[in-house]
Amino acid sequence: MFQINDNYQKLPGSYLFSTIGKKVAAFSEAHPDKSIIRLGIGDVTQPLAPAIIEAMHKAVDEMADAKTFRGYAPDLGYEFLRKAISDNDYKARGCDIEADEIFVSDGAKSDSGNIQEIFAQDNRIAVCDPVYPVYVDSNVMAGRTGTYDAATGMWSNVIYMPCTRENNFVPEFPKETPDMIYLCLPNNPTGTTITKAQLQEWVDYANKVGAVIIYDGAYEAYITEDNVAHSIYECEGAKTCAIELKSFSKNAGFTGVRLGYTVVPKELKCGDVSLHGMWARRHGTKFNGAPYIIQRAGEAVYSDAGKAQLKEQVAYYMKNAATIKSGLQEAGFEVYGGVNAPYIWLKTPEKMTSWEFFDYLLEKANVVGTPGSGFGPSGEGYFRLTAFGSYENTVAALERIKAL
Ligand SMILES: *Cc1c(COP(=O)(O)O)cnc(C)c1O
Repeated sequence: MFQINDNYQKLPGSYLFSTIGKKVAAFSEAHPDKSIIRLGIGDVTQPLAPAIIEAMHKAVDEMADAKTFRGYAPDLGYEFLRKAISDNDYKARGCDIEADEIFVSDGAKSDSGNIQEIFAQDNRIAVCDPVYPVYVDSNVMAGRTGTYDAATGMWSNVIYMPCTRENNFVPEFPKETPDMIYLCLPNNPTGTTITKAQLQEWVDYANKVGAVIIYDGAYEAYITEDNVAHSIYECEGAKTCAIELKSFSKNAGFTGVRLGYTVVPKELKCGDVSLHGMWARRHGTKFNGAPYIIQRAGEAVYSDAGKAQLKEQVAYYMKNAATIKSGLQEAGFEVYGGVNAPYIWLKTPEKMTSWEFFDYLLEKANVVGTPGSGFGPSGEGYFRLTAFGSYENTVAALERIKAL
């Protein structure tokens, strides 16, 4: 009789987006005359930039001709893309990351879920709270997190680093020493980030205690402040302690196209063992390469035309973020984020819980957001709005909120 991986049984149901969906559907049915504006979703809405579409069309045509047809891509990614990444995302910023330290993938969600596989079972993980749920859940599946306490929403073997207004959303070094530290900066869901000097402290800490930092830079393109690092490798010593994950989803609208990459520096070692070699082995065994057409699309992200078009796309979303932020402030809310990320994190008024505020906003303003408690216990009492909608809807939603 086969046995299952019991760790999956430990996972509490992820009711967040299904509960939101059900509540919105019920409201919509009861009030068919009301137009609902959705500012809850973490997905982009603008079409792919023309330079990217052009590159994709060209690659499609190449696939139609025996002379230029491509089969399996190299496991680790095509050289043209890895070089474009190394040149633009690293060398242009003074980070010494070579093309062969970059592993092209189908997105940062898979990489952030898979990376834990190359670490020991008894490693202890530390996560920011609130946080992107994949880091904890993938470690639950691997049996690394201990037991779940439904009352606190916490796992016995996970080190939580609360990020709240009390500490300005800057994670503090935990009392217990972690082996693996997940940092997502700028952060989803809070939209906040830390300075390069603060990140340097984390790099120094990791090198000192012998921890590895898994750094999710999915929102790097939204950074507007000069004192914020665009890559963890801008910090001295990061190559001996950090793995960086990047996605093409939020900077270039690839959520439905699928492309990302992971950087594992060759200097990152556990004793004599190179993590670069281990990740190369895992990638080669379990992944057969991102599609050629998509890697050409990714290359176009770094062309002059692509860069210019994407700068506009990011600016479009950030204009929404500014609209949400200033609108909420005018309405008297306490708001965070929205400066280096497309997320606005607001404190719920009058001690409402995150879900009470969700219901209030849906009923009174017909606006949908995401309850902060869905991202971790320290998200209780907060609420996330995203800048990924259309400008017109964003303005309309804020008019309604201001009129409450
Ligand atoms: C959206 C997002 C990702 C992106 O994942 P893809 O699989 O590349 O689409 C990764 N990390 C965080 C924190 C995100 O919000």
